[in-house]
Amino acid sequence: MPTLADYSQGAAFVRGQYLPIAEAAIPITDWGFLRSDATYDVVTVWDGAFFRLDAHLERFARSCESFRLDPGLSCAQITQVLEECVRLCGLRNAYVEMIATRGQPPWGSRDPRQAVNQFYAFAVPYVWIANEAQRAQGLNLVVSDVQRIPASSVDPRAKNYHWNDLTMGLLGALDAGGDTVVLTDGLGNVVEGPGFNLFCLNAHGVLVTPAQGVLEGITRRTVIEIAQAAGWPVEQRTLPVAELRGAREAFVTSSGGGVLPVTQVDGQAVATGLVGLVTQKLLDTYWAWHRDPRYSRAVVYG
Ligand code: PLP
Repeated sequence: MPTLADYSQGAAFVRGQYLPIAEAAIPITDWGFLRSDATYDVVTVWDGAFFRLDAHLERFARSCESFRLDPGLSCAQITQVLEECVRLCGLRNAYVEMIATRGQPPWGSRDPRQAVNQFYAFAVPYVWIANEAQRAQGLNLVVSDVQRIPASSVDPRAKNYHWNDLTMGLLGALDAGGDTVVLTDGLGNVVEGPGFNLFCLNAHGVLVTPAQGVLEGITRRTVIEIAQAAGWPVEQRTLPVAELRGAREAFVTSSGGGVLPVTQVDGQAVATGLVGLVTQKLLDTYWAWHRDPRYSRAVVYG
């Protein structure tokens, strides 16, 4: 007797078919795999509702355009696929990824224009980029010597899998006893880390986040909107390493956990070394906005 598919660990959409996550695979010849020739986006489901799905779909469309990739599905069709992945696995808190790859040109051709682009998606349990203890105490962030891939080489505003700089930086940071890493632009300014943007509340009480050489994170945007609604000054500009070290507070932002406090930089306490009040307020409001119908869209589980 055939056994029922087990979607409890997640569900994927591959070439028009839904599969349990453990069975989902892409062809080895897809340039998405062979050349990191792909773009993607990650939206979350929290308490049974997508958070800022429209913003993620818009960014995904812009990323596809930037890399000359065509997912072959409209935003409404992508929404249906993502919803079906979540519905199949029944997860109330999920990490939901959509991917467009170059696919494969006909044999013998190396012309990317001849490739048939592919669309993939999956939903798995919610991913936190920091564990519970790190979230409570704050992260020890290491400033890496590794330079983030320049924006003139790969557009960082288009979400991409060119992660070797981030991964090598992270390995170095973990070896040094840190929790995670931030890369620089090679000119003494911090940019971003593996899966997150960075903010500090500087010595003058201004929230500063790097403007260049970064993905414009949806969580970053949410934090900027929360701060602006509260009347707090925010500056999007270059952020020198020295300004980060002398900050009153620091935190990183990601769909994988929201607002995540940073209490040490290279093992040295940021101000008191405790989670800051502004960080806590932003963190609380970030989660409160998940219940706001302006930003959330309930999943119909059926
Ligand atoms: N920067 C990079 C390189 C990322 O990969 C991510 C997310 O994965 C972010 C920043 C944060 O973006 P978001 O807040 O949209 O998750």
